[in-house]
Amino acid sequence: MTTSKEIGWNLDNSYARLPKSFFSSINPTPVRSPKLIVLNNQLATSLGLNIQALQSEEGVAVLAGNQIPEGAKPLAQAYAGHQFGHFNMLGDGRAVLLGEQILPQGERMDIQLKGPGRTPYSRGGDGRAALGPMLREYIISEAMHALGIPTTRSLAVVTTGESVFRETELPGAIMTRVAASHLRVGTFQYVAQWGTVEELRILADYTIKRHYPDIEADEDRYLSLLQEVIKSQAELIVKWQLAGFIHGVMNTDNMTISGETIDYGPCAFMDTYDPATVFSSIDMQGRYAYGNQPYMAGWNLARFAESLLPLLHDDQEQALKLAQAEIANFMELYQGKWLAGMRAKLGMFNEETEDEALINSLLILMQKHHADYTNTFSALTFDKQEDTVLFGTPEFTQWYEIWQARLSRQQESKDSVNQLMRNSNPAIIPRNHRVEEALEAAVQGDYSVMERLLDVLSNPYAHSTEQAEYSTLPVSATPYQTFCGT
Ligand code: AMP
Ligand code: MG
Repeated sequence: MTTSKEIGWNLDNSYARLPKSFFSSINPTPVRSPKLIVLNNQLATSLGLNIQALQSEEGVAVLAGNQIPEGAKPLAQAYAGHQFGHFNMLGDGRAVLLGEQILPQGERMDIQLKGPGRTPYSRGGDGRAALGPMLREYIISEAMHALGIPTTRSLAVVTTGESVFRETELPGAIMTRVAASHLRVGTFQYVAQWGTVEELRILADYTIKRHYPDIEADEDRYLSLLQEVIKSQAELIVKWQLAGFIHGVMNTDNMTISGETIDYGPCAFMDTYDPATVFSSIDMQGRYAYGNQPYMAGWNLARFAESLLPLLHDDQEQALKLAQAEIANFMELYQGKWLAGMRAKLGMFNEETEDEALINSLLILMQKHHADYTNTFSALTFDKQEDTVLFGTPEFTQWYEIWQARLSRQQESKDSVNQLMRNSNPAIIPRNHRVEEALEAAVQGDYSVMERLLDVLSNPYAHSTEQAEYSTLPVSATPYQTFCGT
């Protein structure tokens, strides 16, 4: 019999000590026959967990929700959210927070089961998840982490031995999600809408303590909180844009206060560069298209600012003015960080006033000639202008010469430029057709395709020979579509 202590569970429950209206205590619903499908050894170790013990019967029972580890106080969090612009009461309808693992270095990470059965917030849903979408989240969130993009992580996926019913019958699964926290813009919206000002203050203080301790002593710490969240989100969205990541469902409940990417439903990486790219079947209007993501983040941050108004100033008109001034900064902040990231992608160390125009003219050419986003930057990095339409055009040749002249005006050597570009332009991203291929095999019981994919995705800036085959484009002409996977 393996004990919680042997596994390494060291759980605290600070969220459970918050006001009762913030959550509902609930245990996961046991499943028939749990089986461990994938375990993130590296992450487990960094959490202070023992890999062998996690794989024991008791270890897997915890990952399946069949056993509650010592020190856990399972709960479902309450939250609200604007879904495609419409405000709704939501909450963890298919997730249970076991507690917060205190890491060997003292850091605190949420341990949450996704797909553990119904909760008081499940509405009409079954609270369950299917294997395909859980493995998809595992693959993409781990790829994001390797790309250097803040994200929730995936510790493990287990199958349940039970079926879930969507359009068809699918194998059921549970994923263990690890996050800095699960505080969302929607958490603040929930308390602002239905709680007291005192509860809102408790939530804000909790958030500051957990994510932004440096502002704890600030005179206007709630204004500082707004500024910090705006900054974290600007940094996050810049990283999405630079990597070509499309979240797909940027509702306010899917936007963390910590600045981590959360909720890998219909997300996907863009192949051909086009700001209008949308993969999600439910995003008919293109609200969350690639090029709209910064604006949508700004919109979501405005909802966050609104929920903080009672804390910003006693006079609500003054509060509104303060909030508006901060929100107005977001696009500029975003733009500055984006430009810095794009300069790095193109090997620029210093700043020239024409840089933004130079970068944009490349993007316009890429769009016009349907160039692959990731591969174009890779080709520029290695000066391997393969046989694509873009590289064959006189417009590109002209752009290339201006770019080379621009690079020659900085001090750094060709080697340094190449190094900067190698570190800023990934060799591979989780290409949609590769992810699908891995999931199809996995659902049939063959996990080897996924394991190889996870391996090459774990070091996207390696530019190794075995990664080359993963950078080839899909052969299918049908546009890729994603579904919410709920
Ligand atoms: P999402 O679109 O995944 O961000 O989820 C939106 C809301 O629906 C959240 O409150 C989820 O907890 C809830 N939800 C999603 N799938 C299910 C499900 N299978 N059962 C119950 N609730 C769900
Ligand atoms: Mg969600």
